[in-house]
Amino acid sequence: MSELYMGIDVGSVFVKGIIIDEYDNIITSYLIETLGNPINAVKKVILKLKENIDLEQYKVVSVGVTGSARKLIGSMLNGQVIKNEITALSVGTMKVYPDVKTIIDIGGEDSKIIIVNDGVVVDYAINTSCNAGCGSFMDSLARRMNIDYSRVSDLALRSKNSIDVISSCMIFAESDLIHKIQEGYKIEDILAGACNAVCNNFINSVKKGKKVMTPIVFNGGVSKNIYIVKYLEKLLGEDIIVNKNAQYMCAFGIAIMAKKSNVKKEFSFNIDNYNIDTRIANCLNCSSNCEIVTVYKNNNLIDMWGNKCDKIKNNCKES
Ligand code: ADP
Repeated sequence: MSELYMGIDVGSVFVKGIIIDEYDNIITSYLIETLGNPINAVKKVILKLKENIDLEQYKVVSVGVTGSARKLIGSMLNGQVIKNEITALSVGTMKVYPDVKTIIDIGGEDSKIIIVNDGVVVDYAINTSCNAGCGSFMDSLARRMNIDYSRVSDLALRSKNSIDVISSCMIFAESDLIHKIQEGYKIEDILAGACNAVCNNFINSVKKGKKVMTPIVFNGGVSKNIYIVKYLEKLLGEDIIVNKNAQYMCAFGIAIMAKKSNVKKEFSFNIDNYNIDTRIANCLNCSSNCEIVTVYKNNNLIDMWGNKCDKIKNNCKES
């Protein structure tokens, strides 16, 4: 039986899953919206991945998990490798583009820049505090205009006169933009203005003073927005590469890391048979009684995290 490796990227907007072989070829991939329920979305992704591989011929022997819910899902899947997105993204991108110097990622609720020199990450920045530079802002605006987010780019590309988004706070910007529809502005000009705002926000609050060198690779779901790619190219004054698997780059990276793990164990795809439940508790190891998250698989405690020190372990009380 040939061995395969699975990478799961649990994003706030999409869960991405990928399975690779020993040569890092992508055997199958699938993504689905997280919809506020990462456990459910991950189960669906894994069951879909399972459908696409021949389990008589292959077995998955290692699992890597990254993304904002990586701890929870890492525990649920008993993953061998659990790493943050900066690491996974760097590994994935450098595999496809070994000479990459700048990695940009704009996802649903955060945006990142990673500066690479000779295959080593030398600097990075991440913006999670405001969704201004991210897909969720576009998604929410599109929803309010009754447009599917995947059409934003095509509509924005029709604009001849994009409007200026002056507010630095995107909550106010969104209201302002919606108000402009009532005033009679064209939808394409409003969407182009919103896309420009996402790019400007990335330049001003993520890239900041960092020197951007080529090749530049743009990952994350927002890289599917061609208008944004073109406008970022204009702001940076450089060409940008977008891979057809750009949204999967983190999942690909963590699958490669899983492949390199020394601990191999056949992954059981019977994930629908168990129930995962999280409960808030207090650690009882000292007088701080930190509030912690506990994870139960079929009512058995399998993991906990969240306290300020290392004393955590199986001594807690539910709040
Ligand atoms: P996360 O990892 O934070 O969940 P992703 O990297 O998966 O985020 O990107 C999600 C975002 O990508 C969405 O919020 C959406 O704005 C954007 N996106 C996804 N698919 C498309 C598409 N086909 N066209 C335009 N934008 C898209």
